[in-house]
Amino acid sequence: MSSSSQATEKGLGQIGITTARDHADLILEDYPDPDQQFRRLTLDSHAAKRHLRKLIEQDVINVTEKKADWFEYSVDERAYNAAKTARENRDPLLPCGHSGMIHLRDGRGFVCSYWNCSKIFDRQEIADWRAEQ
Ligand SMILES: [Zn+2]
Repeated sequence: MSSSSQATEKGLGQIGITTARDHADLILEDYPDPDQQFRRLTLDSHAAKRHLRKLIEQDVINVTEKKADWFEYSVDERAYNAAKTARENRDPLLPCGHSGMIHLRDGRGFVCSYWNCSKIFDRQEIADWRAEQ
């Protein structure tokens, strides 16, 4: 056996777990699953690109391979699971599964504030959906 017991535990810490929970929608919807490598260039989502550096610093996203001119990344498995659990345990307020909404002044109801969703629901729709939960 090698002296691996000397190695400090590297990787996802409590800050990373908290970040993963706070950015659950982003991690689950805007990045590929943990078993898929990706490059910054191939991310479609501007939010994903914008948060990439921070998520790497907190080990929510790992550098899995160093290529000549770019890095290959993947989402940390534990961070992914933390995000998933956070979302499952969160009471979604809207039928689309997200929880932030903005009240539309023009009487059309509420719009989901998740940037990639923006679905609009009227008050009755939300009430009916919540009654079914
Ligand atoms: Zn939504």
